[in-house]
Amino acid sequence: MQHKIPLSESLIDIDLKTSFSSIDIDVVAEFEKSLESFYEDQKSVLAVNSGTSAIHLALILSGVEKGDEVLCQSLTYVATINPIIYQNATPIFIDSENDTWNMCPIQLECAIKDRILKGKKPKAIIFVHLYGMPAKIDEIVGISRKYNIPLIEDAAEALGADYKGKKCGAFGDFGILSFNNNKIVSTLGGGALICNTEIEKEKAFFHATQAKENERHYEHKVIGYNYRMNSLGALIGITQLKKLDAYLKKRRTINDFYKESFKCFSEVCFLKEPSIDFVSNHWLSCILLEMKEVANKKYKLMDVLKKNNIEVRFLWKPMHLQPVFKEYPYYGGEIAENLFQKGICLPSGSTLKKNDLIKISESIKKFL
Ligand SMILES: *Cc1c(COP(=O)(O)O)cnc(C)c1O
Repeated sequence: MQHKIPLSESLIDIDLKTSFSSIDIDVVAEFEKSLESFYEDQKSVLAVNSGTSAIHLALILSGVEKGDEVLCQSLTYVATINPIIYQNATPIFIDSENDTWNMCPIQLECAIKDRILKGKKPKAIIFVHLYGMPAKIDEIVGISRKYNIPLIEDAAEALGADYKGKKCGAFGDFGILSFNNNKIVSTLGGGALICNTEIEKEKAFFHATQAKENERHYEHKVIGYNYRMNSLGALIGITQLKKLDAYLKKRRTINDFYKESFKCFSEVCFLKEPSIDFVSNHWLSCILLEMKEVANKKYKLMDVLKKNNIEVRFLWKPMHLQPVFKEYPYYGGEIAENLFQKGICLPSGSTLKKNDLIKISESIKKFL
């Protein structure tokens, strides 16, 4: 059997004997505290069972209801969008820009003006830091303030990334994180909602625990959800978060290795930090193939790598091109679609060895 090189495996190296000798219920609160101190105690954090749940709670707290419109980045994982549909609201998709591959602020503002002209002001904006690269945050925050529309920051892929010295996840009215297995820190499935106030956190807790009213008996006035994180996940999260710096260093080393390997290949372009304001966590190292008939060649390259047991992926397919979302409005051109056509995510996980990296780069070079 050939050794398989996975796309993005997180490393869970915890000492079972000492870590699991006692698990008490408060361990979830403890994990929340460590996340709060990660955000320099400026935030109140609720640990939940997935990043998707965290986005759903953020929409509920932003007041998104049936028939409302939510502006969102088209180039993203479907988990960013699905909770909008859970609320019976309408996603309005926005194109990317080329520097960060994230939401284009110009298209965002065009969309807001047009929706208002059409008679409906959008209820929320969801933007994403794809592959750990911070979006054009100042511009997007500015637009959200100018039009007074709540901003939800999907930092699921960007734990440890920062912008102008402030951590991603801390910029929105709500931020969300994911601790799914393939993310930089894993709790074997989990997420977090980052709130600006303790009151918001309490409201989110209410919705995440079946909406039990504050009565001595079980009283329910609205429909709630069962979204809380479990204790074992929280325990893993606490030990994982302590190792974040090492994981970040590893991902940066991997990214540097790829950049160095392909520096003489003009047809291989990287997603690069546009200026010193942007510090990516390099969750995944992504390349664009700049060549003629790229679609065809990309398939061939991916086949070659698959034969060598190297797991590579397409970039996310833009949501406005997904059959399930085809009825919803889209503002933009073909930037997201072009990135999708040309892009590949290379293996970037914390478990990768030097030999794996050499094998990957040699296989790609040979193909080129
Ligand atoms: C992983 C991810 C999520 C959701 O996370 P889950 O924990 O898997 O629910 C949301 N948005 C983006 C961009 C993601 O990559």
